[in-house]
Amino acid sequence: MMTRKKLYLDVSGVRIQSYLSRTTHLRGRRGASAALAEATRLEDQEIRRLFGASLNTEAGEADGVVNLVLDAPDSEEEADRLARDTAGRVFRHLRARLPAAEFQAVWAVDTSYLDAHRTTIGPRLREGDVLSDLPPVSELPYARICERCHLDPARDRVHLGDGERPYLCPDCMMRFAHRTREDARTAEYELQKRLGTPARPKELPELAALGGKDTDRNHVATVFVDGNAFGHFFEKLAHHGRRLSAESKARISRGLNQATRDALAEAAAAVRRPEEDGDMLCVIPYLVGGDDVLLSLPADRAWPFVRHYLRSFTERTKAVRAEADVPGLPPLSASAGLVFAHHKLPFHLVVEDAASCLAAAKRLVHGKKESVAFYDHTAGHPTHALCLADLEEHQSDLDALTALPESGRHALAAHLRHQAPHAAAATEAHLDRLGRRDVVEPFLADQAPIGLQQALDIARWWR
Ligand SMILES: [Zn+2]
Ligand SMILES: [Zn+2]
Repeated sequence: MMTRKKLYLDVSGVRIQSYLSRTTHLRGRRGASAALAEATRLEDQEIRRLFGASLNTEAGEADGVVNLVLDAPDSEEEADRLARDTAGRVFRHLRARLPAAEFQAVWAVDTSYLDAHRTTIGPRLREGDVLSDLPPVSELPYARICERCHLDPARDRVHLGDGERPYLCPDCMMRFAHRTREDARTAEYELQKRLGTPARPKELPELAALGGKDTDRNHVATVFVDGNAFGHFFEKLAHHGRRLSAESKARISRGLNQATRDALAEAAAAVRRPEEDGDMLCVIPYLVGGDDVLLSLPADRAWPFVRHYLRSFTERTKAVRAEADVPGLPPLSASAGLVFAHHKLPFHLVVEDAASCLAAAKRLVHGKKESVAFYDHTAGHPTHALCLADLEEHQSDLDALTALPESGRHALAAHLRHQAPHAAAATEAHLDRLGRRDVVEPFLADQAPIGLQQALDIARWWR
């Protein structure tokens, strides 16, 4: 019997991380995250009622993506028309809730979502061959610019309930009108439930204040993680997994999705300090996609969090891969971009830096293993991407370097900054004065994967 073909339609937000970062206030970001979750995490019933289509359960759950499936019409022309009509309804639904976001739709007719993705949806996404929906050009006069995002013309003044009454654009009106009860579908709420932390920081200073006593308690780290080799994995799965039922393939896809959520919860639990945090959430996820997460946490918990997350994610995806039992599936892992900054730094800059760090981390390993790249805004110079394995191998060396008095580390860094010929000699003389040459030795070898300058940069927030 021929398997009946289906029309698969994916509608998603474009560059959604930068869309979220339009407002520096956490409150505005949270409002956008909640609106995005509410607009895209839809039940099958809602999808039938709103769009006349069904929820595509073969795809995993991800913020900012609506996966639909319809019975495929007989001709390609009819399928295209049906897809465009349905996409139009989804665009209108999303536009009403996320005024300034950008959306795209892509579709394919096939026997399974995995095949549809491999042969058509994936390639079309890569080539940008999609149906786009851009925010409308405002007809409002450019007399006054929005006082929160400073990007769009303001529409009206709005009472924010904290004594402020700024002029806001439509998108910021949505963000700041957001009510806590609308958070029920967000990744943040999900994490709060899993950790048993009903309270959460109102703004970033409160998050930064969860930093340890040995810090100035005003720095946060923003982490952008993304899975490695997922494209390759799904390609192989579609290709070699012909004997797998659509249900098995869907289970694998959902299992990988769950790995992201579980690794997030596990790493967040690992860096939680119940005595100091009380019932306060210490990791704020803005967006959890299929294999990517964007979040902020106190700066001094970032390294333990990232190391935990990357290890946990690899372990969990390994289990899903083993269960799939398809020959030739590549091992899965994740890479992380990590940015340390004062909580006041505009969030769109932080997100841009986190994205470039993530890209650098991924370039280093070509999708083959866990890696991380970071940028410390206070240090102000770029650092090299690292394999997680190198960090783990040098854990005790980094611990020892971090244990040096801060003044000693500052002096070392100052010597290193002098590119003059005497720099090496001065550094060594300084080490002898400290009587701790052994501490820096591991970072001075010619082939050391972590050089001394970088080790000192890491040491600032290493725990
Ligand atoms: Zn605005
Ligand atoms: Zn500072």
